[in-house]
Amino acid sequence: MDKKIAVLGDIHANLDALETVLADARAQGATDYICVGDVVGYNACPNECCDRIRALGCVTVQGNHDHYCAFDESLDDFTPLAATVVDWTRRQLSSENADWLRSLPYTALVKGITVVHATLDMPEHWGYAFEDFDAQSSFSYQNTFVCFHGHTHVPVVFRLHNGEADHVRPESIRLEPGRKYFINVGSVGQPRDSIPDASYCLYSPATRELVFRRIPYDVAAAQRRVLDAGLPEHLALRLAKGR
Ligand code: ZN
Repeated sequence: MDKKIAVLGDIHANLDALETVLADARAQGATDYICVGDVVGYNACPNECCDRIRALGCVTVQGNHDHYCAFDESLDDFTPLAATVVDWTRRQLSSENADWLRSLPYTALVKGITVVHATLDMPEHWGYAFEDFDAQSSFSYQNTFVCFHGHTHVPVVFRLHNGEADHVRPESIRLEPGRKYFINVGSVGQPRDSIPDASYCLYSPATRELVFRRIPYDVAAAQRRVLDAGLPEHLALRLAKGR
């Protein structure tokens, strides 16, 4: 059977969104999983989300929130809001899950596919690939046809053709041989493209077919968990706006 890989990331401790996405991936016939990182941070279920991803046994790279929630480092580079949640998450994480997050690599290579949370030029600096220019820098470090990433929470396909980077935002696309692709799968647990539905991708290497899935989930339930945990109200409100 040909492989169909579900690529997901920026789950950010949103269990309601994650379970809905995993159910959709199963229903779509996913045979494999890849996680582009940021399993924790922002929402209320860090341990449950680590448990679900660990149970998949899939290749997972470390995101900036994973890193700062698992290592006791200064939070100077975080906004006060994000720092509040990192601090809260540090106190929630089981030692097994903190160990697991610490063990995750910045980049991974799986069956000819590169995986990174942010960009390939200095992944540990967590640069944001919003513009073609940013993608162009990452492409110079990309030795594979496809690289999946996350971090901006905005789904997009960057392409490299004849040395020039551009981007498209298709619902589905057949990748063309001879190009390179740097693909942001969007965010499961905190989309920021004004669409509140959870985002992830299905990729079929044999046909080079890539499909973006947008899945409605129980936003109100995720919001209740944020408020019940005593996390800032803004984090609950933004889920409904997709910002
Ligand atoms: Zn993130």
